[in-house]
Amino acid sequence: MKVTDYIKQSNDDTLVSFEILPPIKGGSIQAIFDSLDPLMEFKPPFIDVTYHREEFIYNRRASGYYEKTAIKKRPGTVGICAAIMNRYGVDAVPHLICGGFTKEETENALIDLAFLGINNVLALRGDARKFEGKFIPEKEGHPYAVDLVKQVKSMNNGDYLDKNIENGMPTDFCIGVAGYPEKHFEAPNMSLDLKYLKDKVEAGAEYIVTQMFFDNQKYFDFVKACRETGIDVPIIPGLKPITKKYQTSSIPRHFFIDLPSDLVNEILKAKNPEARRQVGVEWCTMQSKELKAAGVPVLHYYTMGDADTTKQIIEAVI
Ligand code: FAD
Repeated sequence: MKVTDYIKQSNDDTLVSFEILPPIKGGSIQAIFDSLDPLMEFKPPFIDVTYHREEFIYNRRASGYYEKTAIKKRPGTVGICAAIMNRYGVDAVPHLICGGFTKEETENALIDLAFLGINNVLALRGDARKFEGKFIPEKEGHPYAVDLVKQVKSMNNGDYLDKNIENGMPTDFCIGVAGYPEKHFEAPNMSLDLKYLKDKVEAGAEYIVTQMFFDNQKYFDFVKACRETGIDVPIIPGLKPITKKYQTSSIPRHFFIDLPSDLVNEILKAKNPEARRQVGVEWCTMQSKELKAAGVPVLHYYTMGDADTTKQIIEAVI
């Protein structure tokens, strides 16, 4: 079933969903099951699985020169989606990115997903590769998520890249996209970022999932600004508990978001790792309760494989 249908059928009850990462290559699917089994009691209607493009690594050779090799550290998104649907009977939402894909590779990936009975995708641009200063699309690829949304929408209309295909099977994907309550770091300003977000919705996106945030006011202001801009699709808040001290600098660095002083002070004051984790749990619980009271459609947790922490938060919220 589609994410938007779950939201429509929820009768304004707040749903709970999760995002997971494929394990590092060499890991087993059991790690995914171990991180999801304890959370299934919360009956998530859907589970997102992230996609990770290849990265360049540089190996020093005996000659002293460095050899550049492309490796995919976290393959398996589509396989994990199939495994989740098979084991739990829950819809899986694969993340689909522009980076590293030509339009034809995207089309073929969408055909595989449709054949597997997957009918939700989160359409994203992806980030620049490490060691590349900016996002570089493939020669025959998409530069922005909006272009990917348009391709999925075309396939939903039965239009394939090869115009000789007549009566192509129309796919039936519900398309989600990313939104940034604190602005995407490359956007010159919030109003332009919102304009591009509206473009994604007008191209066919049916819901938005936000970047994580730690101050709910940022989400409420974002939703208000979206509505004023004419974006009327559901906006699902993305939530992540801070559990470790280093995250007070790594999260702002990687995700270009602010952490409230109260949260950072409490984390820094905590005497040991368990006390720090507890601060993060309490903060995320407080955020979740307020968002639920405000009537958000879904609480979407970036679990990062930490089932215990996510479980503790949800038990306190529902
Ligand atoms: P876009 O919507 O294309 O926007 C990218 C930037 O370009 C923005 O600054 C926007 O304002 C600007 N822009 C958009 N359209 C135009 C235009 N026409 N002209 C000029 N500028 C424009 N990354 C992964 O690699 N794998 C994942 O699984 C993944 N999952 C994610 C899940 C969520 C919920 C979120 C919030 C992010 C996720 N990301 C993931 C990260 C995401 O790929 C990056 O944030 C990326 O830098 C931007 O992706 P986007 O889809 O928002 O891009």
